[in-house]
Amino acid sequence: MAEFCLDCWNKINDTEDSKWRYALSWSRELCEECGEYKRVIVVERFWSRTQRLLEEAIENMKKG
Ligand SMILES: [Zn+2]
Repeated sequence: MAEFCLDCWNKINDTEDSKWRYALSWSRELCEECGEYKRVIVVERFWSRTQRLLEEAIENMKKG
């Protein structure tokens, strides 16, 4: 899995996700986007993944 800092993550995904939404690495890791050593996103927190799935399901329902 690619590792990106939160800033780059939001840039890439065009989002402004809060850092609370993700588990950040404990130590500083090399961000593959900006090349700086920062705390990077390790894994999306379980609940936000669940929320996203729900949002997608709702969108699909709206489309019918
Ligand atoms: Zn970065």
